Amino acid sequence: MKRKLLLITALILSVLIIVTGCQFLTGTQTTFSPEDSLAVHFLDVGQGDAVLLVDNNETMLIDSGNPEYGHEIIDYLADLGITQLDYVVATHNHNDHAGGLTDVVANLDVGNLYLTDSEETKASKNLIAAAASKNIPISTPSPGTAMAFGGSVINFLGPLNVHEDVNDDSLVMKVTHGSHRFLLTGDMEEVAEKELLAANLDLAADVLKVGHHGSYSSTGYLFLRTVNPRYAVISCGVNNDYGHPHEETLSRLNDAGSTIFRTDLLGTIIATSEGDQLNFNKNGVTPTQPYQDVDNGLASTTNPVSETPANEATAETATYIGNKNSKVYHLPSCSGLPKESNRIYLNSLEEVHAQGLTPCGICKPPS
Ligand SMILES: [Zn+2]
Ligand SMILES: [Zn+2]
Repeated sequence: MKRKLLLITALILSVLIIVTGCQFLTGTQTTFSPEDSLAVHFLDVGQGDAVLLVDNNETMLIDSGNPEYGHEIIDYLADLGITQLDYVVATHNHNDHAGGLTDVVANLDVGNLYLTDSEETKASKNLIAAAASKNIPISTPSPGTAMAFGGSVINFLGPLNVHEDVNDDSLVMKVTHGSHRFLLTGDMEEVAEKELLAANLDLAADVLKVGHHGSYSSTGYLFLRTVNPRYAVISCGVNNDYGHPHEETLSRLNDAGSTIFRTDLLGTIIATSEGDQLNFNKNGVTPTQPYQDVDNGLASTTNPVSETPANEATAETATYIGNKNSKVYHLPSCSGLPKESNRIYLNSLEEVHAQGLTPCGICKPPS
């Protein structure tokens, strides 16, 4: 009996040594630890989608809005000190998703381009030509593929078929960082949602990037009940022609108890997963409309119209300059300052911290 116990103890010890040894070998770059963080930026690109993932210096841009947003995204990335992207993904070939990627791919160093298998469009042809001219590898991740991304894992879940509607051909990705799961669905509609449900995939997520800008034809009842997201992010333009997000979708999300964040009301939204914390950036966001549909406490923590105190920093006196959209702050001497309309002038680090800003990777201001 005693001998058995000794054997078990030895076994446990050797497993422990192997595990610790592995961590030494792989270092912190590839091993998830609670200190690591994943940032998911839902960029405000008007009526379109663009999502940036940053984890342990690995970067992935998923969609980019219409062509006119390509350069805005390049500027946004420069503010974060990002000049190369490990992965660029077009969820599907519509212009409001793939349109801006041609400029991104043409202007930045890109490691890999992922496309879906679907009907070609002008946007996808331009994108493929830009990538091919720079010898960027192009591939289509098959459903069921998993990849490591920083300290996260990305599972490609769909599309499971080629469809009549290009929206249903959207790449569906689940990003898992520790205990936090993000489900990104492009413009997937109910047809493809039902296929994922029928395949019995693990769709549960904490954050759902709501399909097709909140159209009633996506986010079906059963799909939503299965994903059961605590948070729902809707990317759409102010007063867009489609009436997105549709009332039916908002009401289904409300019934499911999901807190809704909308780029048309809030601008760029940044979610950060760190250890057991999942936070949404609520600072420095200027709403363009009242908050009537946003039931999430943001209204109370954001000042739509800020009073101007006597000692407010100006362009001449500011010690730091923040970017309203990217939530990054710079030294006034930085080469990558945001355009005038996106600037926040700040006197002190105290003000910087109160706005929840992060330091620029180019000028590296004190933090
Ligand atoms: Zn779309
Ligand atoms: Zn679409």
